[in-house]
Amino acid sequence: MTIELPEAMRAVRFHAEDRSLSLETVPVPRPGPGEVVVKVAACGICHSDLSQFDGHIPARFPAITPGHEASGTVAAVGEAVRHWNVGDRVVVAAGRACGNCQSCRLGGSIDDCEALEIMAFSYDGAWAEYVVTPAVSLIPVPDGVPMEQAAVLADAVSTPYGALETANLKMAESVGVWGLGGIGTHLVQLARVAGASPIIGLDPVAGVRERALKLGADFALDPLAEDTHDRIMEITGGRGLRAAFDCVGRTSTVAQANAAIGARGRVLLVGISGEPIELGREGTFLGRRHTVTGHLGYKMKHLAELVELVSRGRLDLTASVSAVLPLEEFAEGIRRLREHDGYPIRVLLRP
Ligand SMILES: [Zn+2]
Ligand SMILES: [Zn+2]
Repeated sequence: MTIELPEAMRAVRFHAEDRSLSLETVPVPRPGPGEVVVKVAACGICHSDLSQFDGHIPARFPAITPGHEASGTVAAVGEAVRHWNVGDRVVVAAGRACGNCQSCRLGGSIDDCEALEIMAFSYDGAWAEYVVTPAVSLIPVPDGVPMEQAAVLADAVSTPYGALETANLKMAESVGVWGLGGIGTHLVQLARVAGASPIIGLDPVAGVRERALKLGADFALDPLAEDTHDRIMEITGGRGLRAAFDCVGRTSTVAQANAAIGARGRVLLVGISGEPIELGREGTFLGRRHTVTGHLGYKMKHLAELVELVSRGRLDLTASVSAVLPLEEFAEGIRRLREHDGYPIRVLLRP
């Protein structure tokens, strides 16, 4: 049951009408039946947060608390919550089941929900001292995993991890990753853990390419160079890539990725740009059996598997935590992400 939670807390609030953000004092949420209140340890700043602030992702509410990449400790549990105790270290999944779709009505899990509600877009997120979430949206984090790294798992690592499953990636398959920001860099690391070979990272920024080479890419290419396509063909022995992950979502990158895959290759759309994209000649998809698949999000088991990989040292996320800023400095964190200041993988806020 509820332990003594304070009455008020600090939270960043996004106001849709004038697209403003401000640090405010708001009531601490109370857990309803089946819910848990988590004291937030760290929460990431993600490009999709910026998309909501800029209006590319339409705001659903006049005001909402951003932040969907959170870790923390259980502060209070609601009725009918059996598996969590106050003090448990957790990573908070960024979504909750809608409770109303066909799958939810038939008793389906959060993973099967057809209208998943995303934290910070459909309900208050974790740029705050406390966040309330369904108990089934939590995964335990062992003591050896730093809270900052656990927070990064909640989207920036788990979404690319889910994309590898969507791509049905096999050992020794060649992989290209377009866009080496938070998602793309983790895709390179995870593809390495998954046994992909060779792994080619593509990004116009030299420093970011260097980083990808340190984190597991075999080759790092500038997608704007004239010989990029030829280089990919050369590296793959003329066959082209088995899987191409587009973490940018623009016609230029999708077209380049589609042109670089081999027969029966697949392109995975992982990046969100909101732009219309051109897929090129229709005959390619027939003649060469190309597949283009969209990917979003992850399953609860993916989060649990990632906690396992990090806790055993299989996946090193020390480079992923680019900076940790106090909650008050949210504007500075947003600025660094927007301006690519230092090319952060993840800037985190600590309430
Ligand atoms: Zn995110
Ligand atoms: Zn549902």
